[in-house]
Amino acid sequence: MTTTELSTLRVALLGCGNVGTEVVRILRTEADELAARAGARLELAGVAVRRPGRARSVDLDRDLLTTDAHSLVTRDDVDLVIEVIGGIEPARSLILAGLENGASVVTANKALLAEDGETLFAAAEKAGRDLYFEAAVAGAIPILRPLRESLAGDRVRRVIGIVNGTTNYVLDKMSTSGAGFREALEDAQQLGYAEADPTADIEGFDAAAKAAILAGLAFHTRVTTADVYREGITDVTARDVASAAEMGCVVKALAICDRRETDDGPAVAVRVHPAMIPSTHPLASVREAYNAVFVESEAAGQLMFYGPGAGGAPTASAVLGDLVTVARHRLEGVSGVGESTHTQAAVLSMGETPTRYHIAIDVDDRAGVLAAVASEFATHGVSIQTVRQEGRGDDAELVIVTHRATDAALSSTVAGLRRMSMVHAVTSVMRVEAEGE
Ligand code: NAP
Repeated sequence: MTTTELSTLRVALLGCGNVGTEVVRILRTEADELAARAGARLELAGVAVRRPGRARSVDLDRDLLTTDAHSLVTRDDVDLVIEVIGGIEPARSLILAGLENGASVVTANKALLAEDGETLFAAAEKAGRDLYFEAAVAGAIPILRPLRESLAGDRVRRVIGIVNGTTNYVLDKMSTSGAGFREALEDAQQLGYAEADPTADIEGFDAAAKAAILAGLAFHTRVTTADVYREGITDVTARDVASAAEMGCVVKALAICDRRETDDGPAVAVRVHPAMIPSTHPLASVREAYNAVFVESEAAGQLMFYGPGAGGAPTASAVLGDLVTVARHRLEGVSGVGESTHTQAAVLSMGETPTRYHIAIDVDDRAGVLAAVASEFATHGVSIQTVRQEGRGDDAELVIVTHRATDAALSSTVAGLRRMSMVHAVTSVMRVEAEGE
């Protein structure tokens, strides 16, 4: 059969911005290939936007455009819905309406999935339709389907990722040029790696939503954004970055999802914060605005997924991959893997999630200082792994790396250090992560 003889599946596209325009472009330019792979021609039924008069970088028949997204997704001739509007509403209502109308849905909406995936998955299951969302985490990088499907026979212990290109670019710039945070952020904005309002990225909100999705899939449990401990990178200083380099480390903004066995059963800890990692760690070599996700599992061992984590075309690649899959399912009358939450793991708070810390302290250069500082750590139950003295005289600095300690114990140690007359300043406090912790 030639592709022109194939049946047609009609696609409602919700949103035609950065991602949506690239979806339209690829649907057009690759129409025959996509038809051959999906087993049906994929034809746009309509494109919902907010401002139909706006210039778009793709040729779009004006008749396809509508501002009435709800009417579009509930049309009888719509088989598949792509949601690339973003945000919570109206995206959630539109996805639910599409599923109820019998369409399968592909979305790139991390914020919505991390906040209320439960409602969406329940609706998909009820409708017997697909809800696919590869593009929601790390753009073009195939990571969600590997977690959902390829690793379904394994036990994932840890997922640790660089899932925000903006923060990776800023920290990479600080590390390669010695720039401070503000200067590196301005550079990222000039190059289009950071939004004019970068809050969602630099404060870790974007990464927290992605961490929730990764943890839920990796550990077969439900995790929402509210379960994720979040710290942004705004307090990372050039001194922190230099201090990391002296220790053979780099500073990265990480999303870390851990599975732990507790006396009460399985538990998960999910957090997003800057941390020092050894330069030998595979994630240390992720430069500029690239993303990568490092997975540690019982049987497979260590896996690394790397690539462009954002951008219209890379994200559209993931959207279209999902579209071909849900189209095939549609033709076969089946649906793919749904939500898997049977583990029902407890979520550990940050206070219950000990980590190692790097602390740099400007001190008096005289006998007895090291012993007094070490004693302050011991008072708060924080055990020291390594201690190094840098500089002499006015430049004397102690660089201490602790064994695992809780946030509370570390905070009281730092407060205690700041009260000591021989301590001039605590100049850097940062978590340290390594493989298999
Ligand atoms: P965007 O450029 O802001 O585009 C949003 C689109 O939605 C625009 O076309 C807008 O219409 C339309 N829209 C907004 N409100 C609407 C409404 N009420 N009804 C109908 N249409 C509406 O966003 P984007 O960057 O393409 O991102 C889309 C989604 O992909 C988000 O969930 C985002 O998190 C996700 N994502 C994006 C990237 C990326 O690199 N951009 C990467 C991964 C995931 P107008 O054009 O008329 O304003």
